[in-house]
Amino acid sequence: MCATAPPVPEPVDSLDLGDGRRLAVTSDGGRLAALPMVRSADGTWRRARPGDGAAEALLGVLAAGTGVTSVGDFTVRSWANRDASGERGVGVDQTNESVIVGDAAVVKWATHLQEGPHPAITRLTTLRDAGFAGIPAPWGLVTWHAPDAAETVVASVDRYLPGAVDGWTWAVELITEAALAGDPAAVAPTAIAVGTLIADLHAALAITATTASAADAARWRDDAMQVLDAACIEHDVARANRGDIGAVLDDLGGLDGTPIIEAHGDLHVGQVLRGADGSFAVTDFDGNPVLPASQRALPVPAVLDVAGMAQSFTHAAIVADRYTALDPAALADAEAAARDGFVDAYRSRLGALGQDRLYDPRTLRAFRLQQVLREIVYAARHLPRWMYVPDAALPRLMGRHP
Ligand code: ADP
Ligand code: MG
Repeated sequence: MCATAPPVPEPVDSLDLGDGRRLAVTSDGGRLAALPMVRSADGTWRRARPGDGAAEALLGVLAAGTGVTSVGDFTVRSWANRDASGERGVGVDQTNESVIVGDAAVVKWATHLQEGPHPAITRLTTLRDAGFAGIPAPWGLVTWHAPDAAETVVASVDRYLPGAVDGWTWAVELITEAALAGDPAAVAPTAIAVGTLIADLHAALAITATTASAADAARWRDDAMQVLDAACIEHDVARANRGDIGAVLDDLGGLDGTPIIEAHGDLHVGQVLRGADGSFAVTDFDGNPVLPASQRALPVPAVLDVAGMAQSFTHAAIVADRYTALDPAALADAEAAARDGFVDAYRSRLGALGQDRLYDPRTLRAFRLQQVLREIVYAARHLPRWMYVPDAALPRLMGRHP
């Protein structure tokens, strides 16, 4: 029996990729999607799957001319002129759909089209122009700019890093092994490499630096208080500590005048791939999915990224503890070595690059706490089995760890 492909809604717009392939923007009950499509022998269009050549065709479009080209409401930014062939899916659950082409490039179709303005456009362009080597080399970006909406990304193409290991995998392994060996110093080379990488990232984005307004500071504080309110509905420990947590978050209201940059905005270990050669690369500049689209591309203090990464080392340690029997003291030492080693390496690199002014650590704890509260709300609403992570993280941050 042959399964019938689900009908594809009539495109709102489409970009011809040549050779009977196109990138279509569709609307399904108001939800926009960017879908690769292929023309069948009978002339009808269907959704393209890995192997149908749509990703190869997009590489062909990029290779036809580097630079910026506008086609109707689409803009193609091409930074590479290499073809590749042979398509396969990434084989992991993901929000969007990525296709690996010839082990050379990864094409990500925005099957869940994000409302613009899309943060990746300026960030990737800035990083590329700065020659920043700590991201998988961007090959191209296709954006769509509907007349009544902000520009958003419909497809992105990056160099594929063969054998890359996902951040949650390497971080949990790193902390597990250091705790098992009773050797917290074993995490140092990784903590230093990642701290250096993020400092280099911020230095490369320093060209976007401006200063936070009183309204920015009030928004960060109010947003954090709203997350606290939501977390208190879901979580006894948050509720019991509401006053103390609120007092820490209140510091965010004092960020008026602090330097801000177009930072990563959703940084955690899961956004850092470890390449087969042991080097690290930052990915996913789509912004923080919990923020409304209008806020996702706004500049933020560098300490927000640092807090996201630092806290995720703690979360990796909590995950490590779940899967392997570990001595509590050895685990705590490994966790602290990873987290503090990362922050120290970040600061020292930023200083060496003459960019210390970008980093003010005074709200590090407030942003770490906000991250834990967001995890509580996320786990309660979408992923209950993740709740053990904020369950363990919150008391530690509030200094109530035994
Ligand atoms: P999503 O956020 O939609 O789930 P991601 O961009 O995070 O998609 O990528 C999905 C998977 O592909 C991740 O597991 C990541 O490890 C891997 N990946 C992403 N970019 C690359 C790359 N340039 N090279 C190798 N693997 C990658
Ligand atoms: Mg991702």
